[in-house]
Amino acid sequence: MPDKLLTVSHLNKSYGKKPVLHDINLEVEKASVTVLLGPSGSGKSTLIRCLNGLEDFQSGQIDFMDQTIKPGFKKWQPIRQHIGMVFQSYDLFPNRTVLDNILLGPLKVQKRDKHEATEQAMQLLKEVQLADYANVYPRQLSGGQKQRIAIVRALALKPEFMLFDEVTASLDPEMVRGVLEVMLQLAHQKMTMLVVTHEMNFAQQIADQVLFLEAGKIVEASSGQTFFTQPKTERAQEFLNSMA
Ligand code: ADP
Ligand code: MG
Repeated sequence: MPDKLLTVSHLNKSYGKKPVLHDINLEVEKASVTVLLGPSGSGKSTLIRCLNGLEDFQSGQIDFMDQTIKPGFKKWQPIRQHIGMVFQSYDLFPNRTVLDNILLGPLKVQKRDKHEATEQAMQLLKEVQLADYANVYPRQLSGGQKQRIAIVRALALKPEFMLFDEVTASLDPEMVRGVLEVMLQLAHQKMTMLVVTHEMNFAQQIADQVLFLEAGKIVEASSGQTFFTQPKTERAQEFLNSMA
């Protein structure tokens, strides 16, 4: 049996009286890439936000590493240290350099040694081709560079699991490739990842597993190979056609 990092069982989530996620069941194996697809408004971001405690849920449970998380769970802080998240908008601190943005978490939250954390940060910057930018301020960077820094900032906390929610959606087309390359590189390094993306070629390239969400339900869960070549449901087929 492959090792599971995350299991979600019978999760239901509403915003007020509005149900948004219905009986979500999923498993994420260690060192695998899960791509979460679905139309706008289907609940992808909400699901991701439930997985790192940014949203509570009404019923069901999440098992992550050795923790069982039920509705009303309060002790997210230590768990979040194992979960890196990158969103569409990169909220770097404008008045801090790139390196200081990256070091904030490792030094202030994890209380790590400054020398060790700086060495790791520089190594990560090198891996995303931004080693020369350690001492510049975010305003001096392009959107694609900022997004790569946001990824490095999340990686600097040495997470077990990375969540990516449409990280290229607000980038100019010529910036997209560089960010996707970083994510492909991470997948090759066996980072466990859950990725929401509208880049279908990339999704096909990176996905071990695809979850297709519609109106808050997972209507199809397939291997990456199967989903893109032989989707089981008509809805997934229509979705793929609409994205082509
Ligand atoms: P996706 O990421 O797939 O586009 P979302 O998770 O953002 O979908 O949204 C799912 C549904 O929940 C949508 O109908 C959206 O309008 C609603 N929704 C999202 N966030 C909130 C919120 N904070 N309060 C109320 N409704 C929300
Ligand atoms: Mg979304």
